[in-house]
Parts: sequence; structure tokens; C-alpha cells
Amino acid sequence: MSSSLATVAYIGATILFILSLGGLSNQSTALRGNLYGMVGMTIAVLATVFGPQVTAAGLPWIIAAMLIGGAIGLYAARTVQMTQMPELVALMHSMVGLAAMLVGIATFIDPEASKGFEGAARSIHEMEIYVGIFIGAVTFSGSVVAFGKLSGRISGNPMLLPARHWMNLAGLMVVIYFGREFMNAHSIAEGMTPLIVMTVVALLFGVHMVMAIGGADMPVVVSMLNSYSGWAAAATGFMLSNDLLIVVGALVGSSGAILSYIMCNAMNRSFISVIAGGFGTTSAKPTAAAGGAQPAGEVTPVTALETAELLREAKSVIIVPGYGMAVAQAQHTVYEITRHLREKGVNVRFGIHPVAGRMPGHMNVLLAEAKVPYDIVFEMDELNDDFPATDVTMVIGANDIVNPSAQDDPGSPIAGMPVLEVWKAKTSIVMKRSMASGYAGVDNPLFYKENNRMLFGDAKKMLDEVLTALKA
Ligand code: NDP
Repeated sequence: MSSSLATVAYIGATILFILSLGGLSNQSTALRGNLYGMVGMTIAVLATVFGPQVTAAGLPWIIAAMLIGGAIGLYAARTVQMTQMPELVALMHSMVGLAAMLVGIATFIDPEASKGFEGAARSIHEMEIYVGIFIGAVTFSGSVVAFGKLSGRISGNPMLLPARHWMNLAGLMVVIYFGREFMNAHSIAEGMTPLIVMTVVALLFGVHMVMAIGGADMPVVVSMLNSYSGWAAAATGFMLSNDLLIVVGALVGSSGAILSYIMCNAMNRSFISVIAGGFGTTSAKPTAAAGGAQPAGEVTPVTALETAELLREAKSVIIVPGYGMAVAQAQHTVYEITRHLREKGVNVRFGIHPVAGRMPGHMNVLLAEAKVPYDIVFEMDELNDDFPATDVTMVIGANDIVNPSAQDDPGSPIAGMPVLEVWKAKTSIVMKRSMASGYAGVDNPLFYKENNRMLFGDAKKMLDEVLTALKA
């Protein structure tokens, strides 16, 4: 493929990626957005593989690598459970980081790659390599730890080392100092030591940064690592002088940064305090001093039959899904119940918390899969004032996102996080298997409220029973 044809293909792919992002911003256009992305990526891969930068000798290697990578990707996509999606995404971010690191090192040690760079251009090229490897290493190790935390292999509690901010600062100074050494190196061998030291520091920094983050801040970290992976890809683009990779990396990096900002707002947290870590520490126990938010008293269990009765008598119902709905795969039964109630004239709506589940948009994906109409799915802010006028709220496998201690108890580890005020409805029904806490490990005073009922059991099983009772 000639270089001008490859450029045209790259421009076409770039436009498709921008259209894809535009499409993904709305549920009703998301499918089209995905299609644009897939076509764009196919064009990009073909234009790169058959483009002028690939020699005939390199082609078999690339095709073999693509076959192996494609087979692994296909297998993962087919076998992964919906609840494991966030872990898979974290693992994929780590791959982008690893690739940026390896490309950086390969570019540095390959004398061919540096040919033609003299004077200022050479300095810029070396800076690209150094910064690219740094971003790649932080993304790689940070994402591996995020994978561990999301999959429960590593505790979700924040690891707070003494003087951790000073350690980070010292790490940054080391990176800057060795950056100067790297730029002043006269040979590849001389540049290797500062490069290796910086890579080790960056890897440790990534581990330390994500380890210090508490359960409730993980959503921001997931989107932040998504953003980092974009910048790592952009850095790789600079190293390889590949314009498309720069553009795509910048698109992913900036959209991830915007998402992190939105998530921070949703959690009522500043970006800096998320990075500084420590939110959601279990050492901070809820205090009784703050308006009696400490969970106390007894819970009132209900049966599926009683739940169906409450729903049948209701005029308005708000359903709040959480991580447990994903675990139980209850979304289809939820839709069946919704359809049944709507046919009987009940106003049924869904309230989606921005951090419900284990990845941004987790609940929206599940509800869309079950064909729940988009116009009855609302964001937290659109619905929170409507709870007092609601007869029944059904909380399906959600916990942290409906925890009143976030509002009532300044000593709570999730204090200040906006929540769905389900307890303001006439009756709230919480569906979960036990009294266990959610991801942030915090007790939930909602369960003990007078107007709250607990429907214990697997969400799918209980909802099936509710549906049968409703239809009876
Ligand atoms: P939570 O983790 O707070 O609660 C989920 C609840 O579901 C649990 O208490 C559990 O209780 C219940 N559950 C689990 N399996 C089932 C089942 N089969 N049937 C019925 N219930 C079940 O989830 P939320 O969605 O309320 O909140 C999300 C949390 O995850 C927040 O703390 C958020 O910060 C964090 N997070 C979010 C991310 C995101 O991007 N959205 C990323 C990483 C973390 P029991 O065991 O008793 O059944």
C-alpha cells in the first residue's frame, strides 16, 4: 500500500473513531458508535500492516502475532462473565502500558530507529522515549493492581504506608534526575542505567498509587487508568512516528480524563484527593455522634409474595440496580417484572448511580441487554427528588450506592458520596442474600429503617418468585 493511500486510510479511521465516541455518548446511538469503532479499527489495522512502515520480512511476524493475540482476545471475549468485565478491562489497560514500555525500550536500543534524529530533534525523540516508558510502566503496574483489587485477589482496603506522599515526591525527583542523565548519555549503554532505574521507580509508583486507593474510589481509578492507557498509546505513536496512534491515544486519553472528572463529581471527590488515596479506609468506623447513623435495631424480612403484593398496590415504583443484579444475572427478570407492572399502569422507572456495579455504565449495559426502554432509565440526579412521591423502591443487589450514612455520618468512610435516597419512598425493599456489606465494606443503616423491608436470597431466584406471584 502506498504511503498516500495509508494516510487517506488513517484519516478515514480517525473520523470513524470520532464518530464512534460521539455515538457512545448516548444509549440509543451506542450500537452505531460501536460499529463505527469496529470499522475504523479494521481500516487502521489493515492500513498499518500493509502500509509503508512494514517490510516484507516483518509481515509473517506481525500476522503470527495477530493470530495469537486475536485468538486469545476471541477466547476471552467469549468466555468472560459480565461480572468479570471490569477485571478484563483493567487487564487490557495493563497490556497497553506493557506495549508502550516495550516499544520504548526497543526504540531506544535499535540504532535504526534513531537514525535521522540530530540536535533538538534527537533530544525530543529521547524525551518521547523516556516519557513514553514512564507512562507505560505506571499504566502497566497500576492496572495489574487494579485487576487484583477488582477480582478480589488483592484486598480493596487502601494500603497507607507512612510518609507515602513523601515517597511519591522522592520517586518523582528520582525520575526527573535520571531523565537528565538519560538525555545527557552519549551511548545506548550509558542511557540504559537511567532508563532502567526510572522504569523500576515508575512500576513501583503505579503499584503504590493504586494500592493506596480505597474501595469507594476504585471507579475513578478504573477510568483514570483508561485515560493513562490512552496517553501510553499516544506516547507509543510519537515513538513510532505513527500519526493515527497519536490521535487515537489522545482520544482515549482525553475521553478517559473527562470520564474521571465526571466520576469524581459523582463521588463528590476532588481528583487530587483520589490520587492521594486513602478514601474508604476501614479504620474509620461510622460514628453515632452524627445524627444516629450507626446501624442498629432489627431488620424486617419479607417474602417474594409480600413483595409482589406491595408492587401490585403501588402506583409508582423506582428500581435501583447494583452489582448484585449483575452477579445474579437478574436483568431479564427485572425487565419482565417491569413490563408486567407497566401493563397494569404502574409508573416504573430505573435509578442509575454513576458508580453502580464495577465499571462505568455497568448497569446501563445490563438493562440495555435486557431491552429495558431507555426512556425509563434515569440518572441519580434526575430522580433523587422523586423518591418522597414514590410508593415502592426496589433495590436489587445494590448496597453502597443507597447507603444513607454517606449523608448522615461525617465519620463514615463514604461520607460525602452522593447516594440514591431510596429510604424516602413510602416503602423500600432491599434484595440481597445476607447482611454483608458492599464493595466499600461499610455498614448500611438503610436495612434497619422502619419503612425498609429485606428480601433475602439470590436476586434472580427471588425476582422469579416475585414475577410468578405477580402473574398469579
Ligand atoms: P455493592 O458492592 O455496594 O453491593 C452489592 C451487593 O450485592 C452486596 O452487598 C451483595 O450483598 C449483593 N449481592 C451480591 N451477589 C448477589 C446476588 N447473587 N443476589 C442478590 N444480591 C447480591 O454494589 P453497588 O452497586 O451498590 O455499589 C458499587 C460499589 O462498587 C461502590 O462502592 C463503588 O465505589 C464500587 N466500584 C464501582 C466501580 C464502577 O466503576 N462502577 C469500579 C470499582 C468499584 P450479599 O452478599 O448479602 O448478597
